[in-house]
Amino acid sequence: MGQDLRSYLDLIKQNHPEDFLVVSRAVDPAYEITAITVKLEQEAKRRPILLFEKVKDTKFPVLTNLHAGRARLALAIHAKSEEMQRVYLRAMEKPIQPKVVSKAPVKEVVLTNNKVNLYDLPQILHHQEDAGAYITAAISFAKDPNGDTWNCAYNRLMIKGRDTTSIHLTQAKHLWEFYRAAEARGEALPVAFAIGVNPAIALGCFAIGSIDEDERAIIGGLLGEPLELVKCETSDVLVPAHAELILEGEILPHERTAEGPFGEFTGYSLGERQREVLQVRAITHRRNAIFQDITVGHLDHLMLSTTPIEANLYRAVRAMVPTVRAVRVPAPFTCYVSIEQRISGQAKNAILAVLGADLYMKRVVVVDHDVDIFNDRQVNWAIATRCQPDRDIAIISNARGSDLDPSTKEDGYTAKWGVDATAKPSLATYTPRHRIPKEVWQRINLKDFAGK
Ligand code: MN
Repeated sequence: MGQDLRSYLDLIKQNHPEDFLVVSRAVDPAYEITAITVKLEQEAKRRPILLFEKVKDTKFPVLTNLHAGRARLALAIHAKSEEMQRVYLRAMEKPIQPKVVSKAPVKEVVLTNNKVNLYDLPQILHHQEDAGAYITAAISFAKDPNGDTWNCAYNRLMIKGRDTTSIHLTQAKHLWEFYRAAEARGEALPVAFAIGVNPAIALGCFAIGSIDEDERAIIGGLLGEPLELVKCETSDVLVPAHAELILEGEILPHERTAEGPFGEFTGYSLGERQREVLQVRAITHRRNAIFQDITVGHLDHLMLSTTPIEANLYRAVRAMVPTVRAVRVPAPFTCYVSIEQRISGQAKNAILAVLGADLYMKRVVVVDHDVDIFNDRQVNWAIATRCQPDRDIAIISNARGSDLDPSTKEDGYTAKWGVDATAKPSLATYTPRHRIPKEVWQRINLKDFAGK
């Protein structure tokens, strides 16, 4: 498989045609794309990749909902659904360095100077409260102005003018750190954004880890080959050669503009803030480029982020508690962990590992290995029957969390908590669970007692 979006779509069309739906009727990018996607999911229980061929006021077709199926995400990284975390961790442990190429499909059309016009792109409004048209599938590529570290991440862009957007840099994360370093020197931060990529690239750029872990090499690990990069027209930033479309630009120092409200993964539409400004210097794209959208706050968005977050958290807990069984992120800012606890205190260590490994994590629940963390009822049962709140809840005040959490007094300045819902002092010595004798369970044949 090639490393572009199109070869991936071909693979889906061949092997899972039911997962691909072309909408040829014209749609209005104002709410209709999101409405059709979410209505299909909620009312028809369908979540295909959607390609809207005719979108009002733009020549670009819009692709959305690409990531809304676990099996098809797995296909992009050559894995079965149930192997995704293992394959992801292997890519983190065995990254493959990217390589630079000189020819790239994404240069088929090059637009600079007065040819740059963001209003030629689909002006997609997602939710009712949104302040304007947002680009939700833009993956940033940037280099540390003080070093050789590269970063890639999703950043939402709100279109503000022909060549201007606002950008949401998550406070205290890596691109924000690069930008702060450039701004401290009074310089702009060169950056470029890829829109329309193979899901392996999307999954890899979501890798949560240390600032010096290169997501581009994790992408290589997921692709099974080096990610091919090409130099921008207006800067030295390197971008995926096979992307559908690239926005080149820089984040300006000491400039802020109104951004938001915007409906996010939290399920909320957080209000207007002053945020950084992106000046777009060039747009390059493939001929007949497909403009990718992420249906923000719904499955397309949530399924994409979960595998990378869970893989990193599993890795972090395993470093502290070797007998970790599973890690799940069931809701925003929330993590469930099951461990086979060998000795008192390991549950608390698992809590510390999770809170120490991911900025966004705010609530951690740790249970014993006999509890299925993919079953919310079982987790609730463990909290209710194995936990004493005055003894087993740890609260950390005044930490840094997500700046999109509406419950914090000051954006992202938050308390965090962990719940140790393991049996104490140990599962082996705890009041036993009720059970039917094994011999009886095996002997009983339902047909003998309850008919056919
Ligand atoms: Mn990073």
